[in-house]
Amino acid sequence: MVKRAAPKPRRRPAATPHQHEAGRCLGILRELSDFIDDELPNDICLQIRRHLGDCPHCEEFVASLRQTVSLCRGNPAPALSANERALMREKILNAARSR
Ligand SMILES: [Zn+2]
Repeated sequence: MVKRAAPKPRRRPAATPHQHEAGRCLGILRELSDFIDDELPNDICLQIRRHLGDCPHCEEFVASLRQTVSLCRGNPAPALSANERALMREKILNAARSR
């Protein structure tokens, strides 16, 4: 007797052109550091800009990330310990919250 797993129905992508999903935000966030460094191809840049226009969360994040990056560029970058990383993350989050 062989049991076959029923194939799961695939969810079709939504028809709306810009659907805001958490997954989409994550994808954008992954590209953000390259975006800030102007290292992305134009079409991806455009995509991110559009997303930022629609998404206050990501927009704030970029603003604080930009600030952090420019602060870091002013100093030679030492390797960060796990503690320092956590602290930095906290500062970024606080900066984003206080806006
Ligand atoms: Zn977003």
